[in-house]
Amino acid sequence: MARRKKLYEGKAKILYEGPEPGTLVQYFKDDATAYNAEKKDVIDGKGVLNNRLSEYFMNGLNGIGVPTHFIKRINMREQLIRSVEIIPLEVVVRNVAAGSMSERLGMAEGTALPRPIIEFYLKDDALGDPLVTEEHIIAFGWAGQQDLDDMVALALRVNDFLSGVMMAVGIKLVDFKIEIGRIWDGDFQRLIVADEISPDSCRLWDTESGQKLDKDVFRRDLGNLAAAYTEVARRLGVLPSNVTHAVKPHVIN
Ligand code: UDP
Repeated sequence: MARRKKLYEGKAKILYEGPEPGTLVQYFKDDATAYNAEKKDVIDGKGVLNNRLSEYFMNGLNGIGVPTHFIKRINMREQLIRSVEIIPLEVVVRNVAAGSMSERLGMAEGTALPRPIIEFYLKDDALGDPLVTEEHIIAFGWAGQQDLDDMVALALRVNDFLSGVMMAVGIKLVDFKIEIGRIWDGDFQRLIVADEISPDSCRLWDTESGQKLDKDVFRRDLGNLAAAYTEVARRLGVLPSNVTHAVKPHVIN
């Protein structure tokens, strides 16, 4: 089969032209990067796991009426998605202090927050994705006020859904990042969840032990990243059968 036209290659995924107008094929690579790509590695099986996990979360969101770009999984590494105009902001929702917020505000990792906190980061690798305020977003036209309201509403619904799904399998959703895209339905535009939802973009801690089951395992050299992601997939019942041999699910360190 002729290879599809590559439209964009990012750090963890490639986007190809889709089979129909308005669609794209999203390919999940095994590449892992952190600290704005200063730390890099190839983790066997990561792309397969994230393809499955993102399918699982996006399907669940679609099922409760939270619109996403996900249409269907095509194979082990690819999914069919709706083409969107990505809003150039990373939307982070936090339930527990960790990572950059802990550093910035001197708050111990693991401190429960009084309510979910939403932050926006400008998608700009050259600037290292800086934190921006709603004032910046409106003034510089990265999104409008209605978009911001819609983004906050979407982010909180994703948070409620993901927190519940994770809690049911003994995992605390500490924080996560989503990207949001604009689509046009005739004259009307709508915002939908795009990109991916996977342990690459969430912080997931085992409820009992506090063990990290997310990309911090790679960022902080805490052990086997694929084993951590496999454990998340196993608990959610979405483990592809041929990945079980590639990694040892219970050996994290
Ligand atoms: N995150 C992400 N991509 C980024 C930055 C952050 O997916 O480019 C996710 C990260 O995995 C975490 C949440 O967003 O779940 C909050 O990240 P934080 O701001 O604490 O940054 P970090 O400590 O990861 O640099």
